[in-house]
Amino acid sequence: MISVEQALEKVLSYVTVLEAEEKPILDCLGQVLAEDIYSNIDVPPLDNAAMDGYAVRSEDTRGASEKSPRSLEVIDTVPAGSISKLKVTPGTAIRIMTGAPVPEGADAVVPFEDTDETQRKEPSNKIGILTEAKAGWNIRRAGEDIARGSLILSKGTVMKPAQIGVLASLGRSRVSVIRRPVVAILSTGDEVVDINQPLPPGKIYNSNAYSIAALVLRYGGIPRLLGIALDKEESLVAKLRQGWDADMLITSGGVSVGDYDVVKDVLAKEGEITFWTVRMKPGKPLAFGRIKGVGKEGTVKYIPLLGLPGNPVSSMVTFELFARPAILKMIGKKNLARPTVKAVLEESVVNSDGRRIFARAIVERRQGQYFARLTGPQGSGILTSMAQANGLAIVPEDKAKVEKGETVQVIMLDWSEE
Ligand code: AMP
Ligand code: MG
Repeated sequence: MISVEQALEKVLSYVTVLEAEEKPILDCLGQVLAEDIYSNIDVPPLDNAAMDGYAVRSEDTRGASEKSPRSLEVIDTVPAGSISKLKVTPGTAIRIMTGAPVPEGADAVVPFEDTDETQRKEPSNKIGILTEAKAGWNIRRAGEDIARGSLILSKGTVMKPAQIGVLASLGRSRVSVIRRPVVAILSTGDEVVDINQPLPPGKIYNSNAYSIAALVLRYGGIPRLLGIALDKEESLVAKLRQGWDADMLITSGGVSVGDYDVVKDVLAKEGEITFWTVRMKPGKPLAFGRIKGVGKEGTVKYIPLLGLPGNPVSSMVTFELFARPAILKMIGKKNLARPTVKAVLEESVVNSDGRRIFARAIVERRQGQYFARLTGPQGSGILTSMAQANGLAIVPEDKAKVEKGETVQVIMLDWSEE
């Protein structure tokens, strides 16, 4: 039996960062930039008004106050998107809207609130300025957000909504990102039935394929469901062949020491096994290796295969610990670890056989401190415990018991604030 760390190191050593693809910016959310982005324009392109008001020469407002307004002649109005043909000369002002380019001659924008605009009864070509404007007032400078020629987003940046917005502000409609891995998912078990079928006696629905596919999607991969294989080598091999063009194969079930656990045998015959038990609970039977497949033009290709245990909780927990980092590595992310918090355990947990326990926990923050309580019975078939949990509380392998009130590390799966 190997440790969780050794197992993870093995899994990661079998996957590499994938190639880049070019696509529309809105399709890139969560992907990693594969190119440096420089700007060939200034953003904003011209000096422009930060408020609705009057573009003035600041020196024309010297000494202005509510009691002694400075009166200026209004010679034009400039909405956003237009450029005034006129110049602000001594004694004049141009009415200007937010975002409109500041006319030549003006060096400040006086907002409506600091003029007599709203108090005037009659339309007039004069405006009273009620405050002294300083040079630069309410002007957004050309290039203050993005200067032409500068590096704006570097290779390796994760595309989040703001990054997509920044690309749009440069007028970029497509960009090069590391492609998403295709993850082929195969359930095994004579008892497992597709969710679109009636449930015969003695059978169970194929929940694993769906929880695993949802996890693949969540972490940036493209899930491909290969269906259900019977607990026979031929059935498994035939189904796995349909996943040869995937970047990774994930099976569920068939990795323990039961009579019908054929995944290990297939892995050994059709490729190689790297490990098949990990010192953890749930998830001790976990097979990993690679399958020999056929790549482009008949070349030999090895595809990493992660054989998750069949128990629904075990398959999700082992996915979180091993498949998630593998997907993140393939998609080009640098940070592969989930955030952990220290939390006070609200009940004791016994560790009977020296494995690292990942207990489904509900983590809450109260008075600046995290508390974790278990979701209830921890059987690895109780999938609803995963649905309640937002964290996995860790009981180390060398601890026989963690007492109520002790502090443990919890891997956060979700934040209750979200
Ligand atoms: P196994 O690892 O094949 O021995 O399966 C362990 C347990 O997980 C058994 O009770 C199976 O019925 C259950 N199981 C296996 N595959 C699935 C699946 N795709 N969906 C839900 N439960 C499963
Ligand atoms: Mg089985």
